Amino acid sequence: MQSFILGGGVTGLAAGLSSGLPVFEAAPGPGGICSSYYMRPGSQQRLAQAPADDNAYRFEIGGGHWIFGGDATVLHFLRSVTAVKSYARKSSVYFQQMDRYVPYPLQNHLRFLDRATVGQVLKELTKTPGNFHTMAEWMEQYFGPTLCQLFFYPFHDRYTAGLYKTIAPQDAYKSPVSLANVIQGAFEEAPAAGYNVQFIYPIEGLNTFAQRMASMCDVRYDRRVSAIDIQDKALHFADGTVLRYDKLVSTLPLNKMLTMTGLQVEAPQDPHTAVLVLNIGAMRGPNCPEDHWLYNPDAQSGFHRVGFYSNVDRSFLPATARPRNDCVSIYVERAYLPDQKPTEAEIQHYCQAVVKELQDWGYIGAAEVVDPTWIDVAYTWSYPQSRWIQQAMQALEKQGIYQIGRYGRWIFQGIADSLRDGFYAGASFKTLEAVPTFAEAQTPLVKPAPAAQRKAVIRKGVHSKANGRATAPGVKKDASLVTAPEN
Ligand SMILES: Cc1cc2nc3c(=O)[nH]c(=O)nc-3n(C[C@H](O)[C@H](O)[C@H](O)COP(=O)(O)OP(=O)(O)OC[C@H]3O[C@@H](n4cnc5c(N)ncnc54)[C@H](O)[C@@H]3O)c2cc1C
Repeated sequence: MQSFILGGGVTGLAAGLSSGLPVFEAAPGPGGICSSYYMRPGSQQRLAQAPADDNAYRFEIGGGHWIFGGDATVLHFLRSVTAVKSYARKSSVYFQQMDRYVPYPLQNHLRFLDRATVGQVLKELTKTPGNFHTMAEWMEQYFGPTLCQLFFYPFHDRYTAGLYKTIAPQDAYKSPVSLANVIQGAFEEAPAAGYNVQFIYPIEGLNTFAQRMASMCDVRYDRRVSAIDIQDKALHFADGTVLRYDKLVSTLPLNKMLTMTGLQVEAPQDPHTAVLVLNIGAMRGPNCPEDHWLYNPDAQSGFHRVGFYSNVDRSFLPATARPRNDCVSIYVERAYLPDQKPTEAEIQHYCQAVVKELQDWGYIGAAEVVDPTWIDVAYTWSYPQSRWIQQAMQALEKQGIYQIGRYGRWIFQGIADSLRDGFYAGASFKTLEAVPTFAEAQTPLVKPAPAAQRKAVIRKGVHSKANGRATAPGVKKDASLVTAPEN
């Protein structure tokens, strides 16, 4: 019996690379929510690759994915797979009702607010923070009631789909509070702060990075796991096939793994939110800002963040629009509770409302592409003092299932940390699953291309397409692995 990796997003690809184990991926291409795709102006068809004339908008499934932080070794790996460019973050809070932009982070740019507000905020922020349990309480203690009423409450109400009053605080490093910087920023420019002051992005697009990683792994596409029989140690796939396993390294969301295995734990499940990502390609409007992204506490159509891919890099625009920069490539994020998934008709209605609102703001003119994606588990949260994550992971570990990555472990982390997680977990399986075991698999496997060939593929950047999404070069569709369904 063999061990497998579940999920071919960046975490699963890193684990596949360092372990040599096969990766089962539900989609027809690699990269998960980080995958880039391309759409020609006026078209409704997603392309896995930029067309030969390069005349297409580049978007990402999960909205703009900028690579921040990361271990030096992970960054070294990234750069060895694909050339990257570095960018200095430009982002702001946009108060539409006041038509006012305040650079991010808000608390370090108080001079953009009126004097009475600044005085009140400074008075509140000089108090020593007290106790807190929930995210709302934490915000009040650290940012004070005035900034909370102005921005933090309305923004987080949208960003967490209303959960901020019950969930534990999370990711405080995203918006650090340093009194010295707050005071300095009330009068003059304070040093840049936050987790993504600098970020990098692959020159040829994030899809190229995922596809090149996949070309070095044994990825089986269109292989959606639908259930896991922990007694028989069998993976059941959506196409009705079944496969025995020894151990599993899973990047699939923790809640979904509990459901698929039928395991239960005592602690109540921690919550998560879904995100509807709306990608828009449009004519650039006269008021379109230069920011990379904006935090929106009061947009009428309900989104909490709008990002401008092409303000980061013009390569996100169709080639013909790049010299004049007269188009703009945009992502818009709106959070939902998972049981409030809108219907197709409601999504269409929302898309129209967003386009109209962005036109009213003068950000865009005519829209050329409007393309939504629902991400069911996008942001994961925890209740104060919750033991659910530990209990769920331990229950799975007892069955030989190891959870890794942002959704596997139910934590906030970006691409770079997801890659590190995958490499680390995969490498520990390399030791256990030495090459002979790989060959002893119950069923024949698609062998990765020899090293020399793989290098050639990476250099050439050759790709093929399947069902409109990328299929890694050198990796066949997984027909050989299919076993007969068990009764
Ligand atoms: C809205 C949003 C914006 C973000 N922005 C950034 C950013 O700017 N920078 C950054 O670094 N990070 C960002 N992130 C985080 C980043 O997306 C994650 O860190 C990263 O995608 C995690 O990769 P993963 O492989 O663990 O998960 P995923 O990308 O979710 O991959 C999981 C894979 O499993 C597959 N799968 C699911 N179910 C099954 C099944 N049953 N059987 C087989 N396969 C299955 C999926 O198709 C998918 O390919 C953002 C996340 C969100 C939600």
